[in-house]
Amino acid sequence: MTEFVAGFLHLESQELVEYLLRETGHQQRGQIHPRDLLDYLRLQYLRFDFMTELPKEARDTFVGTTPRAMISFHDRLVATDVSLNESRTRFSVLHEVAHYILPQHQHTLYVCDKKGMSFGTHLQFEQEANRVAADLLFLGDRFDQESSSRPISALTVRTLAFQFGASFEATARRIAERSYRDCMLVCFSNTSNAILESPSNLQWTVHYCIPSASFANRYFQKLTSGRVPEDVCSALCVDGRDLERSETIEVTISVRMEVQPVRFHAEFFYNQYNVFCFLTPVEA
Ligand SMILES: [Zn+2]
Repeated sequence: MTEFVAGFLHLESQELVEYLLRETGHQQRGQIHPRDLLDYLRLQYLRFDFMTELPKEARDTFVGTTPRAMISFHDRLVATDVSLNESRTRFSVLHEVAHYILPQHQHTLYVCDKKGMSFGTHLQFEQEANRVAADLLFLGDRFDQESSSRPISALTVRTLAFQFGASFEATARRIAERSYRDCMLVCFSNTSNAILESPSNLQWTVHYCIPSASFANRYFQKLTSGRVPEDVCSALCVDGRDLERSETIEVTISVRMEVQPVRFHAEFFYNQYNVFCFLTPVEA
């Protein structure tokens, strides 16, 4: 006999997502119904106040963290904290479903906190669960079909966020991540500590960047520094201003491969927490 050793196919998370969406009738639906996934997987669901209703031993482990959701494999139970708004609750349920279906995540109990469920988490299992949750939320590649036929803009973020029942931030990220066009989403967060300061007086500096694959290839991976111009801030950062009422300016950025700085459209928009910007090249 030879020394050849056979490898066996293991299920990719994308296949799991597609299977679950198909089996729960989501091919004919415009939005994910987390309840149907829970029923299909025979998982119970509860929503309650983690800080008062969980046993004290469990609460004592939460020092310094903000738990949002949990899954107990043994009890076949998913729970979310009562403080979460609707879109966070949906995403949190999908995140716990992801822990349940990912084969390497079969542990007894997960308690997932705000940090782990944020996009910037460094924990591998949390990253994987977030990715699968986003794939479920945006119905696999259905989002890409919707997004690719529209302009890359704040209005598209708003339209698709409502269509898919997702947050503005998750939708804006998905547009940039999956686009075949040249675009980058830049998120600016407020770096001053003045909580009582009006948003237009705050300093908004680069928090993270999501380039599309072609943008990263052609221009750059991220902005190492940058802030929202003052006049854009004062127009944009107004309580209650609708997201799609954006401000677009032209900026020039030096790009390694080019002799001249490259001109980009910078469309800024505000979701009442952070300022975002879509960078797209100005076509010559
Ligand atoms: Zn988790």
